[in-house]
Amino acid sequence: MSDSPHDARPRRTFAVISHPDAGKSTLTEALALHAQVISEAGAVHGKGDRRATVSDWMDMERERGISVSSTALQFEHDGHVVNLVDTPGHADFSEDTYRVLSAVDAAVMLVDAARGLEPQTLKLFRVCAHRGLPVITVINKWDRPGRDPLDLLDEIEQRIGLRPTPLTWPVGQAGDFHGVLDRRTGEYVAYTRTAGGATRAPETRMSAGSAHDLLGPTWDEAVEGHELLGADGADHDHAAFLAGRTTPVLFASALLNFGVAELLRTLVELAPAPEGAHAEDGTLRAPTDDFSAFVFKVQAGMDRAHRDRLAFARVVSGVFRRGMVVTHAQTDRPFATKYAHAVFGRRRDAVEVAHPGDVIGLVNAGSVRVGDTIYAGRPVRFPGIPSFAPEHFATARATDSGRYKQFRRGIEQLDQEGVVQVLRSELRGEHEPVLAAVGPMQFEVAAARMEAEFGAPIRLDPLGYQLARAVDEADLAEVAALSGVEVLHRSDGVHLALFPDRWRLGAVERMHPHLDLRPLPASDLDAEPTRPAR
Ligand code: GDP
Repeated sequence: MSDSPHDARPRRTFAVISHPDAGKSTLTEALALHAQVISEAGAVHGKGDRRATVSDWMDMERERGISVSSTALQFEHDGHVVNLVDTPGHADFSEDTYRVLSAVDAAVMLVDAARGLEPQTLKLFRVCAHRGLPVITVINKWDRPGRDPLDLLDEIEQRIGLRPTPLTWPVGQAGDFHGVLDRRTGEYVAYTRTAGGATRAPETRMSAGSAHDLLGPTWDEAVEGHELLGADGADHDHAAFLAGRTTPVLFASALLNFGVAELLRTLVELAPAPEGAHAEDGTLRAPTDDFSAFVFKVQAGMDRAHRDRLAFARVVSGVFRRGMVVTHAQTDRPFATKYAHAVFGRRRDAVEVAHPGDVIGLVNAGSVRVGDTIYAGRPVRFPGIPSFAPEHFATARATDSGRYKQFRRGIEQLDQEGVVQVLRSELRGEHEPVLAAVGPMQFEVAAARMEAEFGAPIRLDPLGYQLARAVDEADLAEVAALSGVEVLHRSDGVHLALFPDRWRLGAVERMHPHLDLRPLPASDLDAEPTRPAR
């Protein structure tokens, strides 16, 4: 018996990665238009009025027009349930993005046809590669003058090492978008403009012969491009795609709704289904096993009307039913799920049932932290999501000492959400913890929230450290005694040694080779040769 018509349909869970302005919001809206939206999570990050529907709890977010908080959208397409998990837009939130990308099975890399690969796209792509996520590429804004398609493919291959395997090929140059050649069938898919792209753009399929009669040389040119790609071996290879060696490419105009249906089809046909996850002990929790999920995001105060705390969990296995009692693996405590939501942001709809691949929002998830596991039945614990190596450090102090209680509560909350990392030491005491961040904007978010949400304005004093290394308990005393180096403790139990710069770190490594100073798990993502040679 099924609780809702969407229940056990196969899932496709993905995220869109792109540089700001490449069209992520527009594409999300276009996807929602094409698919049957099951639940609109926190609303789409649209422009103008629509922007206001996103979590407007933080003025900073509104002023800057960036999205700090995550949302998710669930739609139905061709017998499948598609979950689009939103990624934060700002580069400083790469750690946040990393967590979100741990909750999806595939990524759509959105590229502006005129701009090609941009810094943020590259950065996010590296996160995907690191996580082994298959990537589908969408070249967007083809309705505007842009670059030569082969040139764009070349750039992708050269700069990120993924071999592009176009599934469609544009008919007409960028700026003169008629439709695409479907490389799998050889047919022409003609698009029809609708007013402002506000409704689904109708598609007409026709044979190559009819397309030639209709379009003449424009069609022949597209056929030529298609054949060239075939001769070059740039055809879709499913195993290579899943292994992260190739990327299927689609040409689209999110604004005009062109190519959006094709993207949905591609997601349904090619993106992998949820496959379960490996537990800490190395065993696989298969999707058919008892219920389990891991928390990839914790967020509070998303809505002025509900000043509470939401933990977003991705279902790994089994069936979640609202009301079931699950166990929080980290504390071994039972956890009631009476208030589970499918909808994030402002609107919240109770989720009755969720399947592997779905995202659930758990309200007032007290002690639950990012990376934690919840389960029912057979116990399981998934490995946590690694925290990034922080590169910015500042001490935080309540400007009003009378608000110390609020200060403590706020710092605790931001720590648990992973807004910033909170570092402590006996030397510094509880009144002046050190905040650590991957990007300095995290500090601004922390300060804004401390004031607005907890009524405890803070003063941040930057510390002159740039690098952190993990140290073992056994080495703590020796490292702490080094000049210019400070040892602090992170709430996940990791001891960090902070260094003013890589020269000091290099010197310490040379002079004390027996010390085990480990780079933090995710710090190799940028793969820049900034580490001193040993
Ligand atoms: P985001 O920052 O990635 O979410 O980008 P938006 O979706 O907000 O789009 C940025 C700008 O590009 C907006 O002005 C959109 O109207 C425009 N845009 C997005 N997609 C297209 C497209 O396919 N064609 C054209 N011409 N403009 C687009």
